[in-house]
Amino acid sequence: ESAWVRCDDCFKWRRIPASVVGSIDESSRWICMNNSDKRFADCSKSQEMSNEEINAELGI
Ligand SMILES: [Zn+2]
Repeated sequence: ESAWVRCDDCFKWRRIPASVVGSIDESSRWICMNNSDKRFADCSKSQEMSNEEINAELGI
């Protein structure tokens, strides 16, 4: 199961394991470099899918 978090630098959405969400402090910065998925662990990487597709996956 996966969740999505937005990078505080580039504002792209990154997929992260749902189990990791609880360990992220809402008040602290989260940037792509923090991503354990190295394919998307850099702000220069494009977003995995469009915001619309992410919303669809989240059922929004
Ligand atoms: Zn970023």
